[in-house]
Amino acid sequence: MALMITDECINCGACEPECPNNAIYEGGADWELGGKTYGEGDPAPSGATGFWSADFFYIVPDKCTECETFHDEPQCAAVCPVDCCVPDPNHEETKEQLQEKVKYLDELGR
Ligand code: SF4
Ligand code: SF4
Repeated sequence: MALMITDECINCGACEPECPNNAIYEGGADWELGGKTYGEGDPAPSGATGFWSADFFYIVPDKCTECETFHDEPQCAAVCPVDCCVPDPNHEETKEQLQEKVKYLDELGR
């Protein structure tokens, strides 16, 4: 399951450098995957939409692996001072699917 950031985010920026997949972006910023740049309104390659935020830090679901293979627990949730990095019910995935996503990102580039 990918994580998501709720509107309780205080924009402290602590989570962004902790993500091993570069899945976290500042509100309003474009995001990247496999050398391509995406912005507001662009769906992710998986078809995911609705995750981009103009106001708060956000997580790209195609890039979040719950920190699978890198860490024992989601690092964004571990460092967030207001506990607003939570499981995203719209992007539920099994451990096997998360491991496949790690391989996908290894090949495509983060
Ligand atoms: Fe990045 Fe891990 Fe947070 Fe997902 S759970 S956004 S991979 S730090
Ligand atoms: Fe927002 Fe939490 Fe990230 Fe700070 S650590 S930017 S409060 S999600």
